[in-house]
Amino acid sequence: MRVTTVGVVGAGAMGSGIAALAASAGCRVVLLDIPGDNDPASPNRSAPARIGLQKAIKSKPASFMEAAAAARVRTGNTDDHLAWLAECDWICEAIIELPEPKQQLFARIEALMKPTAIVSSNTSGIPMATLLDGRGETFRRRFLGTHFFNPPRYMHLLEIIPSAETDPVVIGTMREFAERTLGKGIVIAKDVPGFIANRLGVYGMVATMRRMEEHGLTVDEVDGLTGSLIGRARSATFRTGDLSGLDVLAHVTRGIGSATGEDFALPGWVHEELVAKGKLGDKTGGGFYSKTKQGTLTFDWKTKQYVPQQRIEGGDIGQAIRLPIPQRLPAAKNVPGAQGAFLRDHLTDAAHYTLTLASQLAHDIVAIDRAMEWGYGWEAGPFQVMDALGLDWLREQFRADGKDIPVLLERAQGSFYRNGEYLTFEGTYEPIPAIPGRISLAHLAQSGRVLEDNGLSRLIDLGDGVACFEFRSKMNSLGQGVLEGLEKSLRKIETLGFNGMVIGNEDARAFSVGADLSLVSFAVAAGAWDDINASIRTFQEAVISIRRAPFPVVVAPAGMTLGGGAEFTLHADAVQAHAETYMGLVEVGVGLLPGGGGTKELLMRFTAELQNYEEVDLFAAVKRAFKLIAFATTSTSAHEARAHGFLRDRDRISMNRDHQITDAKQRVLDLAPGYLPPLPRTVRALGREGLGNLEYALWAAKEAGQASAHDVRVGRAVAYVLCGGDGTPRDVTEQDLLDLEREQFLSLLGTKETQERIAYTLKTGKPLRN
Ligand code: NAD
Repeated sequence: MRVTTVGVVGAGAMGSGIAALAASAGCRVVLLDIPGDNDPASPNRSAPARIGLQKAIKSKPASFMEAAAAARVRTGNTDDHLAWLAECDWICEAIIELPEPKQQLFARIEALMKPTAIVSSNTSGIPMATLLDGRGETFRRRFLGTHFFNPPRYMHLLEIIPSAETDPVVIGTMREFAERTLGKGIVIAKDVPGFIANRLGVYGMVATMRRMEEHGLTVDEVDGLTGSLIGRARSATFRTGDLSGLDVLAHVTRGIGSATGEDFALPGWVHEELVAKGKLGDKTGGGFYSKTKQGTLTFDWKTKQYVPQQRIEGGDIGQAIRLPIPQRLPAAKNVPGAQGAFLRDHLTDAAHYTLTLASQLAHDIVAIDRAMEWGYGWEAGPFQVMDALGLDWLREQFRADGKDIPVLLERAQGSFYRNGEYLTFEGTYEPIPAIPGRISLAHLAQSGRVLEDNGLSRLIDLGDGVACFEFRSKMNSLGQGVLEGLEKSLRKIETLGFNGMVIGNEDARAFSVGADLSLVSFAVAAGAWDDINASIRTFQEAVISIRRAPFPVVVAPAGMTLGGGAEFTLHADAVQAHAETYMGLVEVGVGLLPGGGGTKELLMRFTAELQNYEEVDLFAAVKRAFKLIAFATTSTSAHEARAHGFLRDRDRISMNRDHQITDAKQRVLDLAPGYLPPLPRTVRALGREGLGNLEYALWAAKEAGQASAHDVRVGRAVAYVLCGGDGTPRDVTEQDLLDLEREQFLSLLGTKETQERIAYTLKTGKPLRN
């Protein structure tokens, strides 16, 4: 069964977020909430759902991947429009966290749902068995828990919680849909309070606060110690609290506490001094931290005052944070003084709790590690952390603290993971279950599938005659080494007679942040203008070689795809983008223009769209390209990149990052039979006529105080290339435009203002307005 129509009941934070995600993924969505007015004729009857949708449309970060997808959502109310759910393949309940209203809603849904529909609850902790009370057999088979994390678009984890009666086919369908269409990372959890991630995550938060008090540490110290240093999210403990909201934290701790009977109480001062006073975190402008004009203040729990923040991530701790996990954790457990004592207590305590509960929460330890990585942003899950700490050390700590040795720890031989295997709850070692649809480049590299490697880039054999070229530099910036690697790899593919090539990587943050500015800056300081000219030419030749290759090249961008990274993408035969692709030609920010074919490519692409019409004004294409470049427009999703024109209709989007390389490989195989490289192109350049128009717009922006003199100079350089110079209208080739890009790039680079912009950005990571 395919899920294409989705019903969401409850248009609050979660329901509207789930609706936005499903609509972004192409589903038709019905979003219902309670009626806003008792009078059936009132225009406000469906206001709550409508308002929920409006909030999702305006939310930051955006809930929708493109605003236009909101048109797929139909809003209504549960009194007048419940029958709309009869058409839905999947009905997701996301209403108030109380059993009775949920049970009543399910009774009404049972009466009208189609027999093949799947029904789920987004409850954070009410057992499925309770929710099923009073329901018939068909409903019971078609019901499960789907626990999304907030915000649903951005948090990778989805916990699926089958009840004892859920049909395995329903679990399979839900899993496949959530993975492929919604792009989520699936973990199957057992039906226990808090499931996996919140049970361990919230326990960790509460225990950390208690230990902080015991050891007399500050909030700043604890955040410095419980973030990256121990493989957790960078936002550590208290910054995470401020992000999710202290009211939510208070609510969740109460809920899990009462459901488990365990002590999940937050320290009194959190309730009295912060929650009760409306200091709920980022959404109210302050919580554990408060941002002021003088800088960030931190709440001092001893004096109940805010004091200037004193971060401790410098020195030894800062150095340890840079180590890989297997060395970082041993460094963390050896931190001296009270901070070290706190860390050892905290790590031991968290490990003991996890070991004791693991088999009650999940079917294996891999699910637990993935839940914490995908739901809480941990770099390493609790079992990987324990392996890095050393199991003998843990055993000693438990003995010293008078704690028992949990059975799972007794069963472990050396470590929980070894050689691609993990320890099962029964005590055997089994292969780690693969993430469905995922090709792991790191894993292939380890198994000897590297065809080329020069340290800054490598070529990996994906099988079936397809290889993946991977950037490996810092933030995947593009310099000489990467370009040389590309040239060699293209030749290799040809010699091997492969079907084609993918360009992609597994970096969590960036496909590529573009050209390596430090190299540019260095060359400018050395006055090596001939070298710079040659480097730009090499870059241009590299992107063109992607187009000229006698086999298909599919580029797979994800995350930051900026400047040169975007130029690589623009030259692909086809793009297989991850939905979260942030793509833009941002060169003007450092006083330059896209000189690696980006300016040329946008012009040619937009003009080609118009050229088939008679008497059309080609200036529209020039203007469109000019605006994208001059405003350094960057997409907030792949869908938006398509709306901007960075991606074409034939380019495709993978919702799930784990599937992207597989999808890109398949795209190569689709394109390979009978593949012919694209023909060289020419374009009608408007010359001085078009240039005059854009110069006028630049002058007007300067007069209105929106642009500096240097902005105008940079803008004119962009306009000059887009118009093919300032002569009479003429047909220009790709090479003519590339030559103009290079000439203008060099002339901008020669200016003092551009050099200042580059130096400033290199130093601060921010753009300079001069
Ligand atoms: P919310 O308060 O933001 O929204 C709940 C919405 O449900 C409101 O718009 C309300 O009007 C509506 N509603 C209440 N009773 C209703 C009924 N009988 N029929 C129809 N609509 C009704 O809450 P939320 O944060 O979106 O949480 C929704 C569910 O998701 C809860 O079960 C919660 O535990 C769970 N959850 C929340 C989070 C989170 O971080 N907020 C995370 C995971 C799961």
